[in-house]
Amino acid sequence: MTMNTDTYLRISGMATDDAIRFRNLAPDANGQKPAEMISDGKSNPCRHCLGLIAKGDAMLLLAYRPFDELQPYAETGPIFLHRDTCERYESDVMPAWFDHFDPAIIRGYSEAHYIRYDTGKAVAGKDLTRSCQNILEDASVAYVHIRSKFNCFQCRVDRA
Ligand SMILES: [Zn+2]
Repeated sequence: MTMNTDTYLRISGMATDDAIRFRNLAPDANGQKPAEMISDGKSNPCRHCLGLIAKGDAMLLLAYRPFDELQPYAETGPIFLHRDTCERYESDVMPAWFDHFDPAIIRGYSEAHYIRYDTGKAVAGKDLTRSCQNILEDASVAYVHIRSKFNCFQCRVDRA
């Protein structure tokens, strides 16, 4: 199935309720307290505002599962989060620094949150928008996840 219109995107950071829970040091996806650290300024992206955490700024390191329910494809992995309040990223364009996100891993998921194996690939950061649009032009794909080359979850992309 292919949609004939241009596919507009909605790029979203972690839900603010989740960010607040972790900042209150609620258990992460592994049942552990988020680790409190100081950013070294080297590629520590916050999964709430999708900005890079500046050197010297307080941050949390925790295990995050970007799925509401447990199921075979509900992977858990490490993420960073600003220790202090920040604004959730919600936009129809990618954060500017994603242009230097080399490479990023992208893949689509079904409504049942299963990986769509026909959609997965590694792409240059500057190609993320077009690549996400291509995946989401298939109406049977529910949404896309962007991950780092280390397979760390970065953000979710939906159709706008
Ligand atoms: Zn942030």
